[in-house]
Amino acid sequence: GLTGNKGWRPHWRDPDPKPDYDIILIGGGGHGLSTAYYLARTYGLSRIAVLEKGYIGGGNVGRNTTIVRANYFLPGNAEFYSHSLKLWEGLEQELNYNVMLSQRGLINLFHSDGQRDAFARRGNAMINQGDDAILLDREGVRDHLPYLDFDNTRFPIYGGLYHPRGGTARHDAVAWGYARGADQRGVDIIQNCEVTGIDIAGGQVRGVQTTRGAIRADKVGIVVAGRSGQVAAMAGLRLPIESHVLQAFVTEGLKPIIDHVVSFGMGHFYISQSDKGGLVFGGDLDFYASYAARGNLPMVEHVMEAGMTLMPMIGKARVLRSWGGIMDMTPDGSPIIDRTGIDGLYIDCGWCYGGFKAVPASGDCFAHLIATDRPHPAAAGFRLDRFRTGRGLMDEEGTGAQHN
Ligand code: FAD
Repeated sequence: GLTGNKGWRPHWRDPDPKPDYDIILIGGGGHGLSTAYYLARTYGLSRIAVLEKGYIGGGNVGRNTTIVRANYFLPGNAEFYSHSLKLWEGLEQELNYNVMLSQRGLINLFHSDGQRDAFARRGNAMINQGDDAILLDREGVRDHLPYLDFDNTRFPIYGGLYHPRGGTARHDAVAWGYARGADQRGVDIIQNCEVTGIDIAGGQVRGVQTTRGAIRADKVGIVVAGRSGQVAAMAGLRLPIESHVLQAFVTEGLKPIIDHVVSFGMGHFYISQSDKGGLVFGGDLDFYASYAARGNLPMVEHVMEAGMTLMPMIGKARVLRSWGGIMDMTPDGSPIIDRTGIDGLYIDCGWCYGGFKAVPASGDCFAHLIATDRPHPAAAGFRLDRFRTGRGLMDEEGTGAQHN
């Protein structure tokens, strides 16, 4: 199908690494690329390199189930994800790139009175934050999602929290759009360049060692998602992070049937339908620490069972593929955007299973931190030392996987 497009040019250059830069970002995922973009676009900086050990889009940014939303409850998280959703809403104009943002609405189902109370409380917090939330009763859910099993399902559906501005975006287009925008502003995006060491002298970062030689820089940002623990260890840091596998699945292409994002409040299951027609769904972590970007069969069975009890009709669809990504899990489920104890070394990590929706705001806030040495107001709570002191923990782990 692409043979008629031989004149297409690459979206970004393929430069060799220079001997030195002002800023090096380790990791060319969504967060590294958006950080580079906002450093160039907002702060006019351009002597920046993004060093990616594989290829752009090969990490979690190209493996996630593409859900974007601003339905967090706790102060600290709520304003950050609200900021991110607003950036999403202007992203196509900002990047002049079709990231296929589809605000089709997200419905989190609840199955007990207690869950209804918790969702009502969360909905009020979302509205107070300036975002949108509608509490649906059972019939309200039926109006939107008539294909669910309302009669014989294992966990009766009591209602749902509807977030109309939530939805999906085309994940790899987001990476490509930020990569092109950063490249156009002079950022060097260097693929197949693995960072193997971090050079530090006198408490100040001096640069990095890579598979393509040493590169000097006075500021280095670590933005490597599932590899955060390993890369931080190169600077002698021990992070409060465990890496776990999260799997996802896609079926053959079907006619449009599921026109929202739906998450099941009793099992670990959530689903949407891609623009190509595939049903895209997933569940919870594989629950053992691992750096393997693939999962195991027990979680496959668990996710399929949860899907079948909620909407038995999906049993007719054939699953085409499953895959996994490496999640950087923090103890409180909230991320880290902070300085480290080493001058010039910054870290952006701990996105758990929900960092795709954070890509625009994380880039904006991490760029602000690197450029100004002060935290961005929307990310001021994402401090590394909260895990040491116990102050400022934002325990919102439950807003993850099944809600993705
Ligand atoms: P990545 O794309 O993984 O980028 C990190 C990069 O660092 C990688 O490309 C890696 O190669 C590179 N790197 C690592 N070590 C080195 C090194 N030494 N030198 C150079 N480069 C290095 N989030 C949502 O908000 N909504 C969802 O629906 C959702 N669903 C998900 C479903 C699945 C199956 C998975 C796996 C994740 C999901 N997520 C979701 C989470 C989200 O994808 C991640 O939190 C987010 O993408 C992580 O940030 P990133 O894009 O920068 O990561």
